Amino acid sequence: MDLNTITSFRRATTRDELALAPGEMILGGGTWLFGVPQPHATGLVDVTTMGWPDLEVTERGLRIGATCTIAALVAFAEARRTDAVAPAEWTATSLFPIAANALLASFKIWNTATVGGNVCRSFSAGAMVSLSAALDGEAVIWSPDGTERRSPVAALMTGNGTNDLARGEVLRAVDLPAHALRSRASMQKIALAELGRSAAVVTGRVDRDGASVFSITAATLTPTILRYPDLPDGGELTRHIAQAQGFYDDPLGSADWRRGVSVELAERIRRELDAGADA
Ligand SMILES: Cc1cc2nc3c(=O)[nH]c(=O)nc-3n(C[C@H](O)[C@H](O)[C@H](O)COP(=O)(O)OP(=O)(O)OC[C@H]3O[C@@H](n4cnc5c(N)ncnc54)[C@H](O)[C@@H]3O)c2cc1C
Repeated sequence: MDLNTITSFRRATTRDELALAPGEMILGGGTWLFGVPQPHATGLVDVTTMGWPDLEVTERGLRIGATCTIAALVAFAEARRTDAVAPAEWTATSLFPIAANALLASFKIWNTATVGGNVCRSFSAGAMVSLSAALDGEAVIWSPDGTERRSPVAALMTGNGTNDLARGEVLRAVDLPAHALRSRASMQKIALAELGRSAAVVTGRVDRDGASVFSITAATLTPTILRYPDLPDGGELTRHIAQAQGFYDDPLGSADWRRGVSVELAERIRRELDAGADA
């Protein structure tokens, strides 16, 4: 769509150039930004020219540059990249394509939409929010005063389409820690329509130390994270999910239905992880 209030466009190549003038907005891939009227915006600042590496593998884990596209992330998980290779023990990279598929879009969108744009758009059903929440992802945020702050991606979300980023803050990267990438993990999702936007996305993982983490996204306004010292029994997990806050109504599902399917998906994942423990 034409954004007919826009009178300036800048490609940022240095951190200083990320400073926003009044009316300017950060532009990632533009797949959301160019699809919705932005009457308050008068200028765009493109971050895709910052030269941030898509993916950096270190002993601490994986740094996903905010400008990494969904397609590039999936290619990494499927070992189709030569510049960044996931260690074999990072079994939880199997979640990347599943999460990406929750972003129901054509290959054109996958090749343009950025991980940072998805996190910053902060929809409850944001595919990269689900992935980050499931794997203890931390947002690396550049503040306008030149400092940097970190926040769990899950904690950055404040509602369906809102977040804790202040005006002028820029998401630099999402860091996924190695302990989460080494986990056994499973993700399941459900939508009212076969090709509809996810109404509930549930992920469970068991870390090498036996601790387990279950996360619910899309069904609750902000990510719901449940942590256990080991794999909980079915009754305990069901009770905790049934009591969780934030299930909501919209045309993609009622709050009660979202709560019910989240309980069911979590139990399926719990059984799968339990069975896998013996394998
Ligand atoms: C067909 C279609 C299907 C879609 N399906 C889904 C879906 O299922 N789930 C979903 O969540 N979204 C969906 N979207 C919306 C959107 O495409 C995605 O959220 C996408 O990942 C946004 O990434 P982008 O790089 O294009 O962001 P942009 O459109 O460029 O930006 C999105 C927002 O994030 C801000 N932003 C971007 N990068 C940064 C940064 N590094 N730091 C600070 N702010 C930043 C922008 O200012 C803007 O407010 C869909 C879009 C289309 C067209």
